Amino acid sequence: MSNLYRPQTDAEKRNYKDILNWRKDDIMQRSLKRIADIEFEVKHRKHRPYCTKCAVTAVEEHVEKIEKEIKKKANLKDYQFQINFEVDFNSFADPKIFKLHGKNPVEEDKLIDGIRTRVRTGWWYEYVCIRCGAGIAMELKDEHIKPQPTPISNPTK
Ligand SMILES: [Zn+2]
Repeated sequence: MSNLYRPQTDAEKRNYKDILNWRKDDIMQRSLKRIADIEFEVKHRKHRPYCTKCAVTAVEEHVEKIEKEIKKKANLKDYQFQINFEVDFNSFADPKIFKLHGKNPVEEDKLIDGIRTRVRTGWWYEYVCIRCGAGIAMELKDEHIKPQPTPISNPTK
């Protein structure tokens, strides 16, 4: 009787799962960190929208695909394969994926000539990601670089 196709023991199953979970958590953690870094850079330095939701979804889908592949290869007893984890995180800052839905003034009280005066200091920009529908609101001060309102040529078409 061959041992080759015997069912996995509980210990083996556990190990197998542990390996999968470890990979997943590790990849997820590193990806979320990377997304947070890029989001900060895009929003606070370039003053442009970034779709975190799309980025996280892309990572999750990719991880799911890799897990399926790992399971398939494991069933085939083929352990010679490479995991190719590549997500283009910068693509979620592409101006083409955002539609500007509106902007509202940001007002602050300032002392002007010793008088407390309400002045507009910037704008709240409300974007919508046309890929996932997420709303992205960001405040832009007047002293920031003027944002490009990202004209979209009929994205719903
Ligand atoms: Zn999105």
